Amino acid sequence: MNLILLGAPGAGKGTQAQRLAEELGLQHLSTGDILRKAVKSGTDLGAKAKGFMDAGELVPDRIIMEIIAERFNEDGGEEGYVFDGFPRTIPQAQALDELMVEFGLHLRAAVNISVAEEELINRLTGRRVCRSCGETYHMVYSPPSRLGLCNRCGGELMQRSDDTEETVRNRLEVYYRQTEPLLNYYEQKGLLENVSGDGSIEEVFSRVIGAVRG
Ligand code: AMP
Repeated sequence: MNLILLGAPGAGKGTQAQRLAEELGLQHLSTGDILRKAVKSGTDLGAKAKGFMDAGELVPDRIIMEIIAERFNEDGGEEGYVFDGFPRTIPQAQALDELMVEFGLHLRAAVNISVAEEELINRLTGRRVCRSCGETYHMVYSPPSRLGLCNRCGGELMQRSDDTEETVRNRLEVYYRQTEPLLNYYEQKGLLENVSGDGSIEEVFSRVIGAVRG
Protein backbone atom coordinates (compact mmCIF):
# COMPACT_ATOMS: atom_id res chain seq x y z
CA MET A 1 0.00 0.00 0.00
CA ASN A 2 1.22 3.52 -0.78
CA LEU A 3 -0.06 6.68 0.85
CA ILE A 4 0.58 10.40 0.47
CA LEU A 5 0.18 12.81 3.37
CA LEU A 6 -0.74 16.31 2.24
CA GLY A 7 -1.12 19.46 4.29
CA ALA A 8 0.56 22.77 5.01
CA PRO A 9 3.82 22.99 6.96
CA GLY A 10 2.92 22.47 10.62
CA ALA A 11 -0.18 20.36 9.92
CA GLY A 12 1.50 17.37 11.57
CA LYS A 13 2.38 15.33 8.49
CA GLY A 14 5.71 14.12 9.87
CA THR A 15 4.29 12.86 13.16
CA GLN A 16 1.32 11.19 11.52
CA ALA A 17 3.41 9.69 8.72
CA GLN A 18 5.76 8.09 11.23
CA ARG A 19 2.83 6.57 13.14
CA LEU A 20 1.12 5.36 9.99
CA ALA A 21 4.30 3.72 8.77
CA GLU A 22 4.69 1.87 12.10
CA GLU A 23 1.05 0.84 12.25
CA LEU A 24 0.85 -0.39 8.66
CA GLY A 25 4.40 -1.70 8.19
CA LEU A 26 5.24 0.85 5.50
CA GLN A 27 8.37 2.90 4.87
CA HIS A 28 8.24 6.53 5.93
CA LEU A 29 9.70 8.63 3.11
CA SER A 30 10.17 12.28 4.05
CA THR A 31 11.97 14.40 1.46
CA GLY A 32 12.46 17.11 4.13
CA ASP A 33 14.26 14.62 6.42
CA ILE A 34 16.43 13.36 3.55
CA LEU A 35 17.37 16.94 2.63
CA ARG A 36 18.11 17.96 6.24
CA LYS A 37 20.37 14.92 6.64
CA ALA A 38 22.20 15.87 3.43
CA VAL A 39 22.70 19.44 4.67
CA LYS A 40 23.98 18.19 8.04
CA SER A 41 26.47 15.79 6.49
CA GLY A 42 27.63 18.35 3.90
CA THR A 43 26.96 16.32 0.74
CA ASP A 44 26.56 17.81 -2.77
CA LEU A 45 22.81 17.39 -2.44
CA GLY A 46 22.88 19.29 0.84
CA ALA A 47 24.89 22.13 -0.67
CA LYS A 48 22.40 22.45 -3.54
CA ALA A 49 19.35 22.35 -1.25
CA LYS A 50 20.43 24.51 1.70
CA GLY A 51 19.75 27.98 0.23
CA PHE A 52 16.23 27.04 -0.86
CA MET A 53 15.42 25.45 2.49
CA ASP A 54 16.70 28.36 4.57
CA ALA A 55 14.58 30.75 2.51
CA GLY A 56 11.48 28.57 2.84
CA GLU A 57 11.44 28.00 -0.92
CA LEU A 58 11.02 24.66 -2.65
CA VAL A 59 14.04 22.71 -3.80
CA PRO A 60 13.82 22.29 -7.63
CA ASP A 61 11.67 19.39 -8.87
CA ARG A 62 14.56 17.78 -10.74
CA ILE A 63 16.60 17.38 -7.53
CA ILE A 64 13.61 15.99 -5.63
CA MET A 65 12.81 13.48 -8.36
CA GLU A 66 16.42 12.26 -8.37
CA ILE A 67 16.10 11.54 -4.63
CA ILE A 68 12.84 9.63 -5.14
CA ALA A 69 14.06 7.66 -8.16
CA GLU A 70 17.22 6.68 -6.27
CA ARG A 71 15.15 5.45 -3.34
CA PHE A 72 12.81 3.42 -5.61
CA ASN A 73 15.80 1.89 -7.38
CA GLU A 74 17.41 0.94 -4.07
CA ASP A 75 14.47 -0.80 -2.44
CA GLY A 76 11.95 -1.38 -5.24
CA GLY A 77 9.12 0.03 -3.15
CA GLU A 78 7.81 -3.43 -2.28
CA GLU A 79 7.02 -2.62 1.35
CA GLY A 80 5.00 0.44 0.34
CA TYR A 81 5.61 4.06 1.28
CA VAL A 82 4.06 6.80 3.31
CA PHE A 83 5.15 9.91 1.40
CA ASP A 84 5.56 12.89 3.69
CA GLY A 85 6.24 16.35 2.23
CA PHE A 86 6.29 14.89 -1.27
CA PRO A 87 4.91 15.57 -3.83
CA ARG A 88 4.81 19.35 -3.37
CA THR A 89 4.15 20.49 -6.94
CA ILE A 90 2.03 19.25 -9.85
CA PRO A 91 5.14 18.25 -11.88
CA GLN A 92 6.36 16.16 -8.88
CA ALA A 93 2.94 14.48 -8.66
CA GLN A 94 3.00 13.69 -12.38
CA ALA A 95 6.54 12.33 -12.16
CA LEU A 96 5.51 10.19 -9.17
CA ASP A 97 2.58 8.78 -11.17
CA GLU A 98 4.99 7.75 -13.92
CA LEU A 99 7.50 6.21 -11.51
CA MET A 100 4.75 4.25 -9.81
CA VAL A 101 3.59 2.81 -13.12
CA GLU A 102 7.19 1.88 -13.91
CA PHE A 103 7.61 0.08 -10.57
CA GLY A 104 4.10 -1.45 -10.59
CA LEU A 105 3.03 0.42 -7.45
CA HIS A 106 -0.43 1.75 -6.59
CA LEU A 107 -1.57 4.73 -4.62
CA ARG A 108 -4.25 3.96 -2.04
CA ALA A 109 -5.03 7.52 -0.90
CA ALA A 110 -3.77 11.08 -0.52
CA VAL A 111 -4.76 12.20 2.98
CA ASN A 112 -4.97 15.95 3.47
CA ILE A 113 -4.56 17.14 7.06
CA SER A 114 -6.05 20.62 7.41
CA VAL A 115 -5.28 23.17 10.13
CA ALA A 116 -6.12 26.90 10.30
CA GLU A 117 -3.30 29.26 9.32
CA GLU A 118 -2.91 30.96 12.73
CA GLU A 119 -2.54 27.59 14.40
CA LEU A 120 0.07 26.51 11.81
CA ILE A 121 2.17 29.58 12.63
CA ASN A 122 1.93 28.85 16.38
CA ARG A 123 2.90 25.25 15.91
CA LEU A 124 5.89 25.96 13.67
CA THR A 125 7.40 28.91 15.50
CA GLY A 126 7.08 27.08 18.87
CA ARG A 127 8.58 23.85 17.57
CA ARG A 128 11.94 22.66 18.90
CA VAL A 129 13.89 19.65 17.69
CA CYS A 130 16.56 17.55 19.42
CA ARG A 131 19.92 18.09 17.76
CA SER A 132 20.94 14.49 18.47
CA CYS A 133 17.90 12.24 17.96
CA GLY A 134 15.43 14.44 16.06
CA GLU A 135 12.60 14.14 18.62
CA THR A 136 10.24 17.13 18.34
CA TYR A 137 8.72 19.30 21.09
CA HIS A 138 6.60 22.41 21.32
CA MET A 139 7.48 25.12 23.81
CA VAL A 140 3.82 25.45 24.90
CA TYR A 141 1.94 22.30 23.78
CA SER A 142 4.54 19.62 24.55
CA PRO A 143 7.51 21.10 26.39
CA PRO A 144 10.42 18.88 27.51
CA SER A 145 10.69 18.10 31.25
CA ARG A 146 14.01 19.94 31.47
CA LEU A 147 14.24 23.28 29.69
CA GLY A 148 16.10 22.99 26.39
CA LEU A 149 16.92 19.28 26.80
CA CYS A 150 15.49 16.20 25.09
CA ASN A 151 13.49 13.80 27.31
CA ARG A 152 14.58 10.84 25.23
CA CYS A 153 18.35 11.30 24.93
CA GLY A 154 19.25 14.44 26.92
CA GLY A 155 20.42 16.16 23.71
CA GLU A 156 20.21 19.89 23.17
CA LEU A 157 17.00 21.25 21.64
CA MET A 158 17.17 23.74 18.79
CA GLN A 159 14.86 25.61 16.48
CA ARG A 160 14.92 24.45 12.87
CA SER A 161 16.47 27.26 10.80
CA ASP A 162 13.28 27.43 8.68
CA ASP A 163 10.91 27.64 11.69
CA THR A 164 11.54 31.36 12.33
CA GLU A 165 8.45 33.53 11.87
CA GLU A 166 9.59 35.20 8.65
CA THR A 167 10.52 31.93 6.96
CA VAL A 168 7.37 30.24 8.22
CA ARG A 169 5.23 32.92 6.54
CA ASN A 170 7.08 32.37 3.28
CA ARG A 171 6.74 28.57 3.57
CA LEU A 172 2.99 29.00 3.97
CA GLU A 173 2.78 31.28 0.91
CA VAL A 174 4.79 28.77 -1.08
CA TYR A 175 2.43 26.04 0.13
CA TYR A 176 -0.72 27.90 -0.97
CA ARG A 177 0.79 28.76 -4.35
CA GLN A 178 2.60 25.57 -5.30
CA THR A 179 1.31 22.67 -3.20
CA GLU A 180 -2.37 23.32 -2.50
CA PRO A 181 -3.29 22.70 -6.18
CA LEU A 182 -2.43 19.04 -5.47
CA LEU A 183 -5.68 18.72 -3.52
CA ASN A 184 -7.60 19.17 -6.74
CA TYR A 185 -5.19 16.87 -8.60
CA TYR A 186 -5.85 13.95 -6.25
CA GLU A 187 -9.55 14.77 -5.85
CA GLN A 188 -9.97 14.38 -9.59
CA LYS A 189 -8.39 10.95 -9.34
CA GLY A 190 -10.82 10.02 -6.56
CA LEU A 191 -7.97 9.55 -4.09
CA LEU A 192 -8.33 12.57 -1.79
CA GLU A 193 -9.33 12.09 1.86
CA ASN A 194 -9.73 15.22 3.99
CA VAL A 195 -9.22 15.06 7.74
CA SER A 196 -9.12 17.78 10.36
CA GLY A 197 -5.69 18.26 11.96
CA ASP A 198 -7.17 19.85 15.11
CA GLY A 199 -6.78 18.15 18.47
CA SER A 200 -4.26 15.76 19.97
CA ILE A 201 -1.84 13.59 17.98
CA GLU A 202 -3.95 10.53 18.92
CA GLU A 203 -7.19 12.18 17.81
CA VAL A 204 -5.73 13.13 14.45
CA PHE A 205 -4.18 9.68 14.04
CA SER A 206 -7.51 7.93 14.52
CA ARG A 207 -9.02 10.15 11.80
CA VAL A 208 -6.12 9.49 9.45
CA ILE A 209 -6.15 5.72 9.92
CA GLY A 210 -9.95 5.75 9.56
CA ALA A 211 -9.63 7.57 6.25
CA VAL A 212 -7.00 5.12 5.01
CA ARG A 213 -8.91 2.01 6.00
CA GLY A 214 -12.15 3.45 4.64
P1 AMP B 1 9.58 19.74 5.31
O1 AMP B 1 10.37 19.12 6.42
O2 AMP B 1 8.77 18.73 4.55
O3 AMP B 1 8.76 20.92 5.76
O4 AMP B 1 10.64 20.31 4.26
C1 AMP B 1 11.58 21.29 4.61
C2 AMP B 1 12.08 22.02 3.36
O5 AMP B 1 12.71 21.08 2.49
C3 AMP B 1 11.00 22.68 2.51
O6 AMP B 1 10.66 23.97 2.99
C4 AMP B 1 11.68 22.71 1.15
O7 AMP B 1 12.66 23.72 1.08
C5 AMP B 1 12.40 21.38 1.12
N1 AMP B 1 11.56 20.28 0.57
C6 AMP B 1 11.15 19.16 1.24
N2 AMP B 1 10.42 18.36 0.45
C7 AMP B 1 10.36 19.00 -0.76
C8 AMP B 1 9.73 18.70 -2.00
N3 AMP B 1 9.01 17.58 -2.18
N4 AMP B 1 9.88 19.59 -3.02
C9 AMP B 1 10.61 20.70 -2.87
N5 AMP B 1 11.21 21.06 -1.73
C10 AMP B 1 11.10 20.21 -0.67
